[in-house]
Amino acid sequence: MEKTVIDKGLKVFENGGGAKLITHLNSCVHCGLCAESCIYYKATGDDRFTPARKVDLVASVYRRYYTFAGKYMPALVSARDLNEDTANEMVDLLFGACTMCGRCTMHCSIGVDIAYLVKMGRTLLSEMGMVPASLQSTVKAAVETGNNMGIPTQEFVDTIKWMEDELADELNTKEAQIPIDVKGKKVMYTLNPREPKFFPLSISAMAKIFYAAGESWTLSSNMYDITNYAYFSGNMDEARLIAKRMWDEMDKLGTSTLVLAECGHGSRALRWESPNYLKQAFPFKVKTSVEIIADYLREGKIKLDKEKFKEAVTLHDPCNLVRSGGICMEQRYILNEFIEDFREMTPHGIDNYCCGGGGGQLAMSEYNERRMKTAEVKADQIRKTGAKIVVSPCHNCVDQLTQINFSFKLNLQVKTMAELVADAIIL
Ligand code: SF4
Ligand code: SF4
Repeated sequence: MEKTVIDKGLKVFENGGGAKLITHLNSCVHCGLCAESCIYYKATGDDRFTPARKVDLVASVYRRYYTFAGKYMPALVSARDLNEDTANEMVDLLFGACTMCGRCTMHCSIGVDIAYLVKMGRTLLSEMGMVPASLQSTVKAAVETGNNMGIPTQEFVDTIKWMEDELADELNTKEAQIPIDVKGKKVMYTLNPREPKFFPLSISAMAKIFYAAGESWTLSSNMYDITNYAYFSGNMDEARLIAKRMWDEMDKLGTSTLVLAECGHGSRALRWESPNYLKQAFPFKVKTSVEIIADYLREGKIKLDKEKFKEAVTLHDPCNLVRSGGICMEQRYILNEFIEDFREMTPHGIDNYCCGGGGGQLAMSEYNERRMKTAEVKADQIRKTGAKIVVSPCHNCVDQLTQINFSFKLNLQVKTMAELVADAIIL
């Protein structure tokens, strides 16, 4: 491995995080209490997958180059050279065995921000050009085309028009519309590209909710993709570029509230992180879909049929929404408004287990087998509820839950929150 490549990676320790990075790198006391919190360790029992091992991998490289003992007596302090072997192990553990779910951080006995260190490790690997190819190609598509699936604009517009016709037929009124690029509306609504590509009915579900609530809203054909996989690849320049486009589109359309589609990591990257990496406070309001649906219910703008769902329903909490964003009660408020038999998983809320699809895992086909092994934890949680429907306010989680449903023969319906609400809406 060339020295220039190694030097690029090491720069992350110098420029990346200052005192916060150094503090967390030096704090682990090896108590092992984080092990059971991680789905990778829990599902496999493999010591390599404990959160502490992931921390130690990043810390051992730091020690080698930035501490006295590491420079002169590396073996004594378990300091490691950043070479081909170490970098490959980092790729395998930090990209291939972590969803950056943050559950371990919450369970660490002394508060080491393990997910943050994994992210810094990913940034180091990104600087070295070692992001797994599949994840990098997803980011590349987003950077080059404006959406991570590379959907051409005309195809997107045609899909939206088709959904608009379907919605007008369903509701028997031409007033039910899906506006695109209309300036001066109150809300700009975003999408996960999987919706126009594979699941357009979730777009019309949210459009039905907006129609019922009498909302003033529009989509943008230029920038509708809420995902930001550069946040997971560790390339903060690309993450910044993607977020900035969304900010600019709000300005261009003159909208005052950005409503984020059901996407945990997209919400995290935009709502909670982008003001940090753009170094600016939001000049507009930002809300997630679950918050706006809960607002509509509280304000009496929409009404739901309490008789619609007789089956037991359980909720999967997206890690990025509950642990990173603290949005925990809104989804429960919505469900308790119209679901007769709502059953919580154990554990749930901010202590929920990751579904296994976060952190870019669904985009990294290299680790599919491992991803579905970790999914045993979620499958077991769902099975124990006895529910027939699992809802999650995150398209990424819904994709993983759909695969879990199939692989573990759970015989469930998997839905987004908007789909469940739209099915029960009274017009
Ligand atoms: S962030 Fe989640 S997946 Fe990663 S080590 Fe911690 S518990 Fe495991
Ligand atoms: S719980 Fe915290 S201090 Fe203990 S081993 Fe895990 S990371 Fe280290």
